[in-house]
Amino acid sequence: MTQKTLLIGQTLAFTGDPFHDGIETARHDARGGILIENGMITATGTADDLRRAHPEAQITDYGNSLILPGFIDAHAHYPQTAMIASWGKRLIDWLNRYTFPEEMKFGDPVYASAIAKTYFDLTLANGTTTTTSFTTIHPASVDAYFAEAKSRGLRAIAGKTCMDRNAPADLTDTAQSAYDDSKALVGKWHGQDRLIYAITPRFSPTSTREQLAALGALWAEHPDCLMQTHLSEQTEEIAWVRDLFPEARDYLDTYEAAGLIGPGALFGHAIHLTDRERARLKESGASLVHCPTSNTFIGSGLFDMDGLMAEGQTIGLATDTGGGSSFSMLRTMASAYEVAQLRGRALHPAELLWLATTGSARALRLDTKIGHLSPGYEADLVVLDLASTPAIAQRAARADTLWEAVFPTIMMGDDRAIRDVRIMGQSMTK
Ligand SMILES: [Zn+2]
Repeated sequence: MTQKTLLIGQTLAFTGDPFHDGIETARHDARGGILIENGMITATGTADDLRRAHPEAQITDYGNSLILPGFIDAHAHYPQTAMIASWGKRLIDWLNRYTFPEEMKFGDPVYASAIAKTYFDLTLANGTTTTTSFTTIHPASVDAYFAEAKSRGLRAIAGKTCMDRNAPADLTDTAQSAYDDSKALVGKWHGQDRLIYAITPRFSPTSTREQLAALGALWAEHPDCLMQTHLSEQTEEIAWVRDLFPEARDYLDTYEAAGLIGPGALFGHAIHLTDRERARLKESGASLVHCPTSNTFIGSGLFDMDGLMAEGQTIGLATDTGGGSSFSMLRTMASAYEVAQLRGRALHPAELLWLATTGSARALRLDTKIGHLSPGYEADLVVLDLASTPAIAQRAARADTLWEAVFPTIMMGDDRAIRDVRIMGQSMTK
């Protein structure tokens, strides 16, 4: 007989998308339960009903804490862990001054493994159960990330970051070596346990047409891989792309011409988009990834969440560490709230929590596996203490609804709010 585990606490599940179906789509149980068997969620409901139906289950009672699907970070750079919060630059200078020197260290497998370990320690401590990361040009950086994720049983996504121009010589590959290295890494890691490979050109300014085309060809050979890159983050970057690709209709066209668009394509940032780009992104089924702490930290601009959602784009949420300034998806939700406020719209806590879980899962084409509290889903969970600091506790004590109770944790919470995190049902905090 398989061991059954019953988790009890407040639960919040989404039966639809609160941006389009309204916040009524969120189902809150003040005393809910999640039954787990063999790492999978097998039943949800009220705690009383589940306790009666499964008297043999081992119970963990989280009291008033809130059980959610684990947070899903749809865009990050684990090699930038050690240089997060570097002062005073915009995108291109920031890459040259801080990022590239750090990324050069990842040819050393020992250094790469040490940073990968630190990175997953930090993301798990912040309740993030799935990460989607860029690496460096070094295959060893991909090996270090996937080996560490695998040892912890994580569902994780990454790919070798390819660059064959406009970067230091020690950080460039070629069209051919990018293709060859990436192909070998797909064979080595994609589909191993819970790992997924993402074909990863850093962005058009650092890839030639030939490299983009080679990676497009590789994706066509492995369509169940994801493809991740950056799009229209800063205006200076867009002008640079216009100079480098005079034949292109716009920034997106540089990817489109290489076959790097379609379902499973993840475009980080996507702030300054033309009407054609928006229409083409929607039509192609690609995903946009909003990185709000990065966009304010590097001074990139204000993502048009409402407009893009209204036209039916697929959108995930992400930290973009270390351009982003936090490993916490709580802080990232708060930043998404602030960015939307600056555009005149207050995102509802249901919308923020949905983006950080189900929304990101959908953007990653993983919404049949993670991001839902429903039977048949992998039991990757986060348990939030809604009174984790004196400031939050005194505010939450005055709340009349779940939304009033959880919003102070979204706005002011950090890793202290993470009471537990579970990977395939197993607690990572014990
Ligand atoms: Zn990025």
